[in-house]
Amino acid sequence: MKPKGVCELHLSACGLIESCEGMTQSLFGETPTALRGQLLPSRLGAKSRASWRELWREFWRDGTRRDAVAAAGTVQDLTLARADGAWTPVCARLRAADAHEPGCVVLTLRALTASPLRGGVPAPEALHDALTDLPNRRGARELIESTVVPGAYEGDSISVACVDLDNFRSVNEGYGHDVAESVLRAVGDALRRCSAGFGCVCRTAGDEFLVVHRGRDSAEDMREFVPALMRAIHEPLDIGGEQLIVTASVGVATRECRDVDFDALMQRASHAMSRAKRLGRNTWYFAPAQILPDTRQQAIKTRLYRAIQLGALELHYQPILDLASGQLRSFEALMRWDDAQLGRVSPGVFIPVAEECGLIASLGSWTLRQACRQAARWRRMPGCRHAIAVNVSALQLQRGEFEVELRAMLESECLEPGMLELEVTESALIHDAAHLAEMSARLRALGVGVAIDDFGTGYSNLLYLKHFHPSKIKIDRSFVQGIATSAEDRAIVRAVIDMAHAIGARVVAEGVESAQVCAELRRLGCDEAQGYLFARPCASADVEAWLGSTRIAALDLQG
Ligand code: C2E
Ligand code: CA
Ligand code: CA
Repeated sequence: MKPKGVCELHLSACGLIESCEGMTQSLFGETPTALRGQLLPSRLGAKSRASWRELWREFWRDGTRRDAVAAAGTVQDLTLARADGAWTPVCARLRAADAHEPGCVVLTLRALTASPLRGGVPAPEALHDALTDLPNRRGARELIESTVVPGAYEGDSISVACVDLDNFRSVNEGYGHDVAESVLRAVGDALRRCSAGFGCVCRTAGDEFLVVHRGRDSAEDMREFVPALMRAIHEPLDIGGEQLIVTASVGVATRECRDVDFDALMQRASHAMSRAKRLGRNTWYFAPAQILPDTRQQAIKTRLYRAIQLGALELHYQPILDLASGQLRSFEALMRWDDAQLGRVSPGVFIPVAEECGLIASLGSWTLRQACRQAARWRRMPGCRHAIAVNVSALQLQRGEFEVELRAMLESECLEPGMLELEVTESALIHDAAHLAEMSARLRALGVGVAIDDFGTGYSNLLYLKHFHPSKIKIDRSFVQGIATSAEDRAIVRAVIDMAHAIGARVVAEGVESAQVCAELRRLGCDEAQGYLFARPCASADVEAWLGSTRIAALDLQG
């Protein structure tokens, strides 16, 4: 039994109250059950929240110090907001929990006055959602800013999964408000159960939840966790005797703890979630690892927008050669962007940004038109019979108007469809396989070639491949570059070549940098090759000078 005016709260590493002992009623004006699952800051006034942050930060400062601090305890005065509107000034002390105790931190609160104080301080803003009994969006911010981040060790990262129910509006409209609320409660419970011991769950908006996790490699932990989360959501919910099934789209974003900005992190998670929706819902999407600081990302976004408007982007062209004859077969168009402020930005960096902020459609049509125009121009030069390969984003292909625009473009630029080839990355196939297979068939019927790019880096299913029916498969350079030295890479490349030939597709090896690799590719029966060994991507004027010369014919393919 704790002495009067003292209570002990057991907190999780995320700072959520897991259990309480002692005089919660006299300190908080509430039962232990009502406090469970809440964030301590939801019970603190504004000034005390800042003190709490300090206390928590101090407690977690670092592993070695922590034991020393924990032995003595970390102490701070706080003011608790009671349920009845009064206040209890307390002295708070944090220590590490013993092995047998629940939670990982024990918070001891000792009242500093005989009875609660009234008035004088504004009531704390609500950090809690009454419907689901979870932290709300403000609570999520408080959780991340005042407990998760200050409690991090050097090198920890934080991952948030933004979970948005699919078609929730139809539940609301079809079953009514009460059922919809029961569904939200049930989903909240399911999320809480499956996240226990992993992270904290919040309800950040109507049908949107958040799971917050911190760790050494939080993104990797999330990759393991999210499939279980999807299964938990998909379990039939018992709503008033009726069984309902809901699904959700999940977006995950990760950031180093030392530079977390709550709004930026939430925005990235929310973009990733929208991406999951666009990929057909009931799936998840991980925002790509952010190597760039948010400010650079933001700068790329705004500068890219301007660059598109001002026509500051350019296409470069890299030749693709026929390995048997050494003849030039085609050129791949690759986007180039030199920005006055940012310097040269690689398409590997700005294409994902363009996809994320909705610029990919206009950027994509610009590239296609430009490439078709260029190819048509070269076609008019004597002896030039090579095709043009253009990278298209899966998002671009999924837009309803894509085919109509493409037809119009081929016509207005006077390019025969057979001279155009579209490259789609292999990873695009898994998300919208059926639609892309149909699109591929339509493009083939039109006479346009379709290549699978970066083959080997995605998750390839042979069935997709068969239905997609590509005219070409481009083997990713990570395999190609190893064939001269690694028997394993050689075996993979050989298998891909055989398989591609079996489905009637030609094979292009990317990233050929050495004569040895080139010779090995010819031995394996690879049809075409592209890489620095032959030429780097270059501006159209250089291509033209080059087409005029005999350089290509002189290429020594024998290695
Ligand atoms: P990708 O389609 O796999 O393009 C090949 C990339 O490999 C290009 O990088 C090219 O410069 C590089 N490369 C070519 N030969 C060699 C070599 O021998 N060794 C090495 N190490 N690299 C080589 P780049 O231009 O930076 O493009 C990166 C990616 O950006 C492209 O990969 C493509 O996925 C995307 N991309 C480029 N332009 C466009 C575009 O217009 N639209 C779309 N949607 N994506 C584009
Ligand atoms: Ca490509
Ligand atoms: Ca590629």
